[in-house]
Amino acid sequence: MPSQSDVVSRCESDDIRLVRLLYVGNDGVVRGHVVDGNRIAHSFEHGENLATVVQSLTATDVVAPTGEFGATGEVRLRPDSTTFRPLPYADRTAAMLCDLSTLDGEPWVADPRSTLGEYSDSLAKRGLTARLGFESEFYLLVDDGTDAGPRPVDDSPCYAAEGMQTVDDVILATLEALDDQGIPVGAYHPELGPGQQEFVQDHAAGLAAVDDHLFLRRTVQAVARAHGLDASFAPKPLPDAAGNGCHVHLSLWADGRNVFFDAERDSPYGLSETGRYFVGGLLEHAPGLVALTAASPASYRRLQPSSWASAYTCWGADNREAVVRVPSADRGRREASTRVEFKPSDHTANPYLAVVGILAAGMDGIDGEIDPGRPLDVDPATLGESELRARGIERLPESLDAALDALAADEVLTAALGETLVESYIAVKRARCETSGSGTGAPSV
Ligand code: GLU
Ligand code: MG
Repeated sequence: MPSQSDVVSRCESDDIRLVRLLYVGNDGVVRGHVVDGNRIAHSFEHGENLATVVQSLTATDVVAPTGEFGATGEVRLRPDSTTFRPLPYADRTAAMLCDLSTLDGEPWVADPRSTLGEYSDSLAKRGLTARLGFESEFYLLVDDGTDAGPRPVDDSPCYAAEGMQTVDDVILATLEALDDQGIPVGAYHPELGPGQQEFVQDHAAGLAAVDDHLFLRRTVQAVARAHGLDASFAPKPLPDAAGNGCHVHLSLWADGRNVFFDAERDSPYGLSETGRYFVGGLLEHAPGLVALTAASPASYRRLQPSSWASAYTCWGADNREAVVRVPSADRGRREASTRVEFKPSDHTANPYLAVVGILAAGMDGIDGEIDPGRPLDVDPATLGESELRARGIERLPESLDAALDALAADEVLTAALGETLVESYIAVKRARCETSGSGTGAPSV
């Protein structure tokens, strides 16, 4: 973990000219400022200027009309030296992720990254650490400038060896670039859609996992571009093919033990009572939570029944149609691999906010001992209305607007984010719904 003085020396010794100081706002877009490598000591000490209005900007650069922030007001970008990486895909360039502070150096109440940092600290006070990994799906596309628009790089079927071969060079170069940045990816495969790929990031502690995930996305896009391809993480880039999920895999640890694991229980897969309650909280808060995890109008074109993305508030052992899947653990490393997977999540989310929401929902389940009901072992779309009702299973909101209504009404989630942040978030997302015209919206963020 580089300290501030390590970063200053590294910029000098590696002749780094440009340092990208990055953050992610309510809109989910990675943005930032770039400073000269020889200015980095100044950036650490004083921060770099940033207009508060960024937290009222939508992904298409519209300032939310009812937003909290406007023409006046400044905060400071505070680079976190522990996230420093020279970028293998950009010459003499490095990057760091930043917290946003007030001019007095206090965490800014509207800063997503500090909010996750503070939430993680509150878990630590209870003796808990969250470990997370993201399962990221994306399409590799060729854009040859025709009116038909970008098309998939191949038409290989799900998990097909043929697909592995077509993009072998791109995948290899991406994994090498990730290795250079210390971001381990445990598994890769060609996914269901034509040209669709999946990377599974190794689990790491809360904030570090999210930081790594953001670097992973940038890396995939940069390496694809260097190979003449586009990488699309949009939730539903092709109308007739599988969507792109960004499933969040998560466990909670205390004193070196996974509190989601109970060797004595076999149902399902050794998930502990605490783990079950965490699932109960995720299901209870799912309608509002998806406003944070499936954060664009287009996200709701992905969250359709029977498309492996999840559309109903149920859980199950290895059930790919459930909002919460309990994946089967690895033989021989059951404790290490016991976890829950939250599926209705995609890359349009601000991952710091998505993880705060997921943790707050799950912790509410633990604190309130919320029973998730029986795990479901079928596709919920095959059950009739009365059976769904009898089991307390609901359809997820079918548009971002509906999810935002549920978020605004969810006292646990709004308290976890704090009033300024949640209000600014909702204003930005309402504006995004307006500018995309309807609840189904444009193909990307
Ligand atoms: N592509 C699916 C989604 O949109 C997920 C497929 C899988 O289960 O990995 O979430
Ligand atoms: Mg997948």
